[in-house]
Amino acid sequence: MDRRDILKGMGITTATGALGLWSLPGEASQSRPAAFNGLPAVKIKKVKSIVTCPHGIELIVVKVETDQPDLVGYGCATFRQRAHAVVAAIDEYLDDFCRGRNVENIEDIWQTTYVSSYWRNGPVLNNALSGLDQALWDIKGKMAGMPVYQLLGGKSRFAVDCYSHANGRSPEEVAEDAQRIMGEGYRHVRIQLGGYGALNLADKADFKDAGFGRPEDNYMNQRTYLTMVPKLFEHVRKACGEEVELLHDIHERVQPLDAIQMIRKLEDYRPFFIEDPFSPENIGYFELLRNHTTVPIAMGELYNSPHEWLNPMSKRWFDFIRIHISQIGGITPAMKVARLGEWFNVRTAWHGPGDVSPVGHAANAHIDLAVWNFGIQESVHFSDKLMEIFPGAPYMKNGYMYVNEAPGLGIDVDEKQAAKYPLPEKFDYNWTQVRQKDGTAIRP
Ligand code: MG
Repeated sequence: MDRRDILKGMGITTATGALGLWSLPGEASQSRPAAFNGLPAVKIKKVKSIVTCPHGIELIVVKVETDQPDLVGYGCATFRQRAHAVVAAIDEYLDDFCRGRNVENIEDIWQTTYVSSYWRNGPVLNNALSGLDQALWDIKGKMAGMPVYQLLGGKSRFAVDCYSHANGRSPEEVAEDAQRIMGEGYRHVRIQLGGYGALNLADKADFKDAGFGRPEDNYMNQRTYLTMVPKLFEHVRKACGEEVELLHDIHERVQPLDAIQMIRKLEDYRPFFIEDPFSPENIGYFELLRNHTTVPIAMGELYNSPHEWLNPMSKRWFDFIRIHISQIGGITPAMKVARLGEWFNVRTAWHGPGDVSPVGHAANAHIDLAVWNFGIQESVHFSDKLMEIFPGAPYMKNGYMYVNEAPGLGIDVDEKQAAKYPLPEKFDYNWTQVRQKDGTAIRP
């Protein structure tokens, strides 16, 4: 469906004028019809959740249906750790709150929904809000007959430059994996030992012998990690050359002063950025970090509230803002974060792991294409199953991400395919559960 069909559905067939806003290539110019300037508005008929879990990762998408046949929008509301709570927030509250509202007024719907719970800025409600917000941008793009990045200002670059992940249990294995990734055309590689934060490397966990915690809990030797990362950088830089950009994620799991000392040791290897040195509770250490090293820092995948990024960004305490867009409420707030960053030279590096739905990756990429202060994007490859559920998802080529150029976010959701993979009965908490040798829980 394009804007001609929408107009037809509203009983509008002619409206000529000089602006040409409503003409398609080869058609006579049409000014924006008065009907779109106010009444009758296209209205929200239903807001509902779609869930799917084809690879053990719970994905949640919001579908906004309108009173125009076939005009629907999709947005990412994926918060896998509390999937059922997000579904309830969408189906029980957003649907009721949004029915009958004018789909054109995204900012107003965002602002009123944001305060509709009175208490706000939490991950569950922000994800539900993101699904709604992204779906409204998708609809606006379909109404305009344009990809969303056009509505955000048009392209600042031809495609979205991405980094990929190199992993291994030793510096040699990581270097080998990095070379494989560089062979695929990537110019940026994130290097990690033993997965996130060198989990389960080296020695054994005493808490397990003592029967403390759950048998499946992870053990992290923070000292081993802190010692190995500089060695990892030294080896990979030597093996892979000067040209490639190297990234690393601390994942917050060490003491702040230990993180600062380790980052200083990485200066000679010129990291592109070091990610998440501190947990959100330790934002207060950024000034100290900045005073001791010029290594670029990326931060923010755990942020939910403006109070977490406003002060550090305006103080230039980090260089890349790494927010998980559905965790702050969608494209509308993310664009404000990006614009804020432009004036403080903070570039975007939106969080883009497997627990972002393909709709969310598309939203990331549309913003990446448009904003001037784009930094880098986390790459993603979708399986055949995911491509069946989400036709039109972004795709990778030579280390760049491309979006489908169809109007809106360019991505569809096949609800029948999605329904084949319902949410699991039991949730896997394992990834967040990491302990020290004596069993003390470590905060990501
Ligand atoms: Mg991270």
